[in-house]
This record gives sequence, C-alpha cells and structure tokens, in this order.
Amino acid sequence: MNLAKKIAGIKPSVTLAVTSQAKQMAGRGIRVINFAAGEPDFNTPLHVRTAAIQAINNGFTKYTPVSGARELKAAICDKLRRDNALNYQTEQIVVSCGAKHSLFNILQVLCQKGDQVIIASPYWVSYPQMVKLAGARPIIIPTKINNQFKMTGKQLASSITSRTRAVILNSPANPTGSVYNREELAEIARVVLRHNIYLISDEIYEKIIYDKKRHISIASLNKKVNKITIVVNGLSKAYSMTGWRIGYLAGPKELASAVAVLQSHSTSNPNSIAQKAALTALNGKEEFIVKMQKEFSKRRNYLLKEIRKIDKISFSKPEGAFYLFCDISKTGRGSLNFSQKLLEREKVAVVPGVAFGEDNYIRLSFATGMEDIKEGVNRLAKFISRIRP
Ligand code: PMP
Ligand code: GLU
Repeated sequence: MNLAKKIAGIKPSVTLAVTSQAKQMAGRGIRVINFAAGEPDFNTPLHVRTAAIQAINNGFTKYTPVSGARELKAAICDKLRRDNALNYQTEQIVVSCGAKHSLFNILQVLCQKGDQVIIASPYWVSYPQMVKLAGARPIIIPTKINNQFKMTGKQLASSITSRTRAVILNSPANPTGSVYNREELAEIARVVLRHNIYLISDEIYEKIIYDKKRHISIASLNKKVNKITIVVNGLSKAYSMTGWRIGYLAGPKELASAVAVLQSHSTSNPNSIAQKAALTALNGKEEFIVKMQKEFSKRRNYLLKEIRKIDKISFSKPEGAFYLFCDISKTGRGSLNFSQKLLEREKVAVVPGVAFGEDNYIRLSFATGMEDIKEGVNRLAKFISRIRP
C-alpha cells in the first residue's frame, strides 16, 4: 500500500512492543520475568478508582472543554504551585491523552519543515520519532556514562543552529534515571536563553526520585526561563494511571491556545471520567506516592547490589525513575541480539538500548515485584556466564 511518506520512516515504539510480547508470553503460561515494563506495577489508588465510578454514575460522561475541565486545570495549577513553585493560570494548561500526547501536540504546533529539535542520547524512544512526525529533524547530543548521561551546556551550545526550534529535557530521565541538579539546569537555561528557542521539559518521573534528592523544574529557575519553557507532566507514573491517559502541558498562553486548536480537530477533550479521576488524585494526599517511592527504592537498592556482582555489566546509578541502564558491550553482543536471546533462553524481557539510541546498553525496569527481580537477576547472570565470545 502506498502510505504517506511521513509515516514510512517512523518505527513503532519498541518499549511498548517488548512489554506486550512479555505480557503475551505470560498469558500463555510461561514464567516471564518482565524487566521491560515502562509502567508502575501498582494498582491505581482506590479513592481514584472510586472517583471514576462516581463520575460515570453522576453522568460526567459528556464532552468537556477541549483543553480539559476547568476544575482539573485549576487543580493542575495548584499542583504546579505546590510542588514546583510554578505560577500558571488555567489558560496556560492543556490536558491531553497522556504526556506522550502533550509532547506530540507541542512539537506539532512548534515545528515545521527544516526545523531542528535537540535531544540528548540516550533518549526516550518516542522523542526523535515525534520530532520527525512534526516535520522537523532530531539533533542528537551523545552523553557519557561518567557524566551520568547528562548533556552539558557546552554540548548544547555547540549543537544550536539558526534552525533550532527547541531542546527536549527529561529529568528524571528515561532510560537512565539521571536527575539534573540546579547548577546543571541553570547552565542549560543560560545557553537556551542566549538563543530564540524553546525548552520542552518532560517531568513525568518527578515523583520517582531517590536518596532524598529533589526534583527541580527548570521552569522555576527564573521568569525568563519560565517564559520559554513548556512543562510536560501527567498522572501515569505518579499515580500508576498509565491506562487512564491523562497528561498535561503548562506553558505560554499562545502555545496552549494553539495546542487546544490542534486538539479540537483530533482527539477533542481527554476522557471525561479519567479527568475526574485525575482531579481526585491531584487533590488527594500523597500517601500512595510515598509508599510507591519506598518500594521502588528498596528494589533499586537490591538490583544495584546484585547487578554489581555480574561480570561484564556496568551502569550509572539511577537517581530517579525506575530503570537501570546497563552497559553490556563487554559481552560482545549488540543490544537487539542480547535482548532476543535473553528472552528466548531465559525468559527475561528487557528493552534493547538501541531503542534509546545506544546499542551497547539494555534497560532493566524494576517496576516488577521483588520475587521476580531476584529470579530475573539470577537468570541474567546465568545467561551472561554462558555467552561465549
Ligand atoms: N515521557 C517519558 C520520558 C516517558 O517515559 C513516558 C512514559 N511512556 C511518557 C513521557 C508518556 O507517558 P504518558 O503518555 O503515559 O503520560
Ligand atoms: N514510558 C514507558 C517506557 O518507556 C512506556 C512505554 C511507552 O510509552 O513507550 O517504557
């Protein structure tokens, strides 16, 4: 079939594909250890689920304003003020069908043919593809494991051209777990401010952070940075609500209006029932988040301790998110071959690093139960010990 050029060069999401393959194998009764999951393995909190059922029973089942119900946007403004020291009005917020959708929309309204968008590698799988779908070109900045996979201001400065439209920043990061500190953010912001470009700050993992580190939104550094930043966040990770599809952006009014226009001709409002659930989550206590953080922290520490014992694997300690990005180059295998053989032989699913732009790595997610983590590490060690050069 003769499909449009814009879709021909776009690869499907590897993260979603591997997760679904692992779930299918499990469905066939195979004991798969799923280190591929890109979503928390907890149920959505009960009070949030109850709010959704109430929304249905109360008839909150019609269209809402395209950019989200006013009440929810007000709750998002409160959250941004409370957690991130950011002041926005509801006109600056657009609620979409997940943070992925928010990012997609932003790139659609910012970019046109010939534009460039800067992304640090390893990157989340969808960034370059979304940039291409917006007609622009992804410009990749390679980062180093000994700099915790963070891009520096210097690197950024040398990648900006007259065609640069935006830089995507992701902290805490997927797949590396890197968290930028205030100085590093300030350095990036200084460079961006010297040019007429935007900062897209993906903060979806802000609540999953370790060792008493604190997430800082780059938009909170000062007024000038705030004006050129578009903050993206959502409910998927913080409240274990991946299936509900609620994400949002906060940014300049003109941009928010443009995204609302785009959305009015595509999805319209995000699901009304999920919006009510999101409202309850944001206005509720953080008990669930604290519990989830503790559990992730326990698993992370265990995984770090055990993976350190495996020869031929190295990593940079993740400070946030729920992933461990491991260098497997010493095994002599590329990431696709390594991941496929690991799944076939040991029934352990991981995401090949090539999906994130780094073929020498694999991503292990610890969004899976402790028993499975223990078993998975044993299987991984066995697999590696049997690899012959
Ligand atoms: N950004 C990053 C870095 C992610 O890992 C994800 C999760 N897939 C998203 C955005 C999108 O999350 P969602 O669309 O579920 O809100
Ligand atoms: N954030 C997850 C991941 O990277 C979800 C999958 C996706 O949306 O691509 O695995």
